[in-house]
Amino acid sequence: MDRKTAKIQGFNIDLLSFKDALNYITDNIINNKGMHIVTVNPEMIELAHKDKFFSEILKNADLVVPDGVGIKIALKLKKIAQEQVPGVDLAKELMVNCAKNGKNIALIGAKEDIIKKAEENLKKDIINLNIIYTHNGYFSEEEESEIINKLAELNPAVALIALGAPKQEIFINKCKEKLKQTVFIGVGGAFDVWAGVVERAPEIYRKLGLEWLYRTIKQPQRFKRIYKTLPLFLFKAIIESVKK
Ligand code: UDP
Repeated sequence: MDRKTAKIQGFNIDLLSFKDALNYITDNIINNKGMHIVTVNPEMIELAHKDKFFSEILKNADLVVPDGVGIKIALKLKKIAQEQVPGVDLAKELMVNCAKNGKNIALIGAKEDIIKKAEENLKKDIINLNIIYTHNGYFSEEEESEIINKLAELNPAVALIALGAPKQEIFINKCKEKLKQTVFIGVGGAFDVWAGVVERAPEIYRKLGLEWLYRTIKQPQRFKRIYKTLPLFLFKAIIESVKK
């Protein structure tokens, strides 16, 4: 597929609707075409400005979908209408498609009780879901090598990695060399949602692009992260749109 992208502060964002992203990735899964999908938000762009290694990983990703509303706003400032593609929803729909097409998945990340609960709930929700490997997200470097070797041996069609950014993207980058047929997605706090310990924002918040506000009210510790990055990101987005 020729990528239709727009640049936000030097980084390509793929301009695909949720449905088109889902179909495109599903085709790749069915055809055993490995890829790295990043579900990007403003905090990640800000981090990439400071961290060369992370910046390269972002630039080398095969698909970068706009997860955060801040990215949608930055595109809007450039007069590009783009819907948000929430990673947590995209990953779930991909699992549904994996189950339908006999493709297996691996889940890595979050605390042990969370990943177990998420696995249990997902299996209840999605018939024929074939989860072939899970591991919590708290491991040493030595254990990391073992996990990557195990993944290489199992060769899952999809691996959902929930370590938060940039850990998950760095982990995926390490896996890519050995797992060329696996579709990797960094899914942040998705396992906490599927385990039922973190609620998704109600529909009205999501429609208004205010999921971040809801999550910040529920988890005030997130405020520190957002206020450090979001205003600066939006300021740069305005400057970029004016310059254009
Ligand atoms: N996490 C992990 N290992 C780590 C650090 C974090 O598995 O070393 C998990 C954490 O338990 C949580 C997820 O990564 O499930 C990060 O969630 P967060 O809400 O920060 O991600 P976001 O959705 O904001 O990117």
